[in-house]
Amino acid sequence: MRTFVAPLLLLAMTDVGAADSPAPAPIAIAIHGGAGTLSRERIDAALEAEIRAALDAALDAGHGVLARGGPALDAVEAAVRVLEDSPHFNAGKGAVFTAEGRNELDAAIMEGHTRRAGSIAGVRALRNPVSAARAVMERSRHVMLVGEGAEAFAREQGLAFAEPDYFRTEQRWQQLLEARQREAEAKAPRASSYFGTVGAVALDRQGHVAAATSTGGMTNKRWGRVGDAPIIGAGTWADAQCAVSATGWGEFFIRLAVAHDICARVAYAGTPLAAAADDVVLRRVPDLGGDGGVIAIDARGNLALPFNTSGMYRGWIAVDGTRGTAIFRADE
Ligand code: ASP
Repeated sequence: MRTFVAPLLLLAMTDVGAADSPAPAPIAIAIHGGAGTLSRERIDAALEAEIRAALDAALDAGHGVLARGGPALDAVEAAVRVLEDSPHFNAGKGAVFTAEGRNELDAAIMEGHTRRAGSIAGVRALRNPVSAARAVMERSRHVMLVGEGAEAFAREQGLAFAEPDYFRTEQRWQQLLEARQREAEAKAPRASSYFGTVGAVALDRQGHVAAATSTGGMTNKRWGRVGDAPIIGAGTWADAQCAVSATGWGEFFIRLAVAHDICARVAYAGTPLAAAADDVVLRRVPDLGGDGGVIAIDARGNLALPFNTSGMYRGWIAVDGTRGTAIFRADE
């Protein structure tokens, strides 16, 4: 008899213990590596494996922070830094080239519950622009710094710089040559000229959300062109219950204040996150002539990753722990 009682007792005790300790608060993260014209012909199996590995590494970096009880702000910065360091994305190393053959980088970060935000634009030598954006947020009285001033600030703050060669990849250089050729032939730029921006959104155990975005902008850009990524409310936004990072044809995302519009619908109309994100990305952006996608999260950890292009590099770890990476539409 005893031999039966003991395990039963043990089981009962385990059950009581489980009922006493509440389930840990939910955490979740989503990342993107850019939306645009993507075809299987351009991405062979080896390249796809490298890209998915980079997305997984970014997910691990961000989710690791959340799992240890760290803030969403740290998680999105950690995930974006991994993607900036990868040559496969248009941010940090691997950024696209301007018309003059340089790299000009933009980034932003925002914490929802405090509405603190920081961004930088048009910097040329900062190794991890997202961390510079965070420094603007935390260590200056400003929200946005541009160009040489932003770099002078970053130098004062001891942030890491890199030589111009660090950012260069042959693929991006070839894209610039192709864009120049099309321009000389008076052809429209390729839709893929702005592909590869990176971003992250996260929910931490305190119920706080944050967003971060980093980009090299558009191939062949000139005149100090700045896209949506560093514009708070356009490419990057977070409030108490919603966070968004965008990618796509930045001019349209600025004109529609895409990231803010999605979260405003959640806040003011009570629209579910997915419906809000779908309406903006699948209807309003294309109606105006733009294209791209977003990643969005709400304070319950619901995720939405809509895009209206043929593909979007993306990854997620949901509140139930399920994770994935995807590139094409049919991948999910
Ligand atoms: N949205 C970025 C920009 O317009 C580009 C991108 O998403 O790839 O600068």
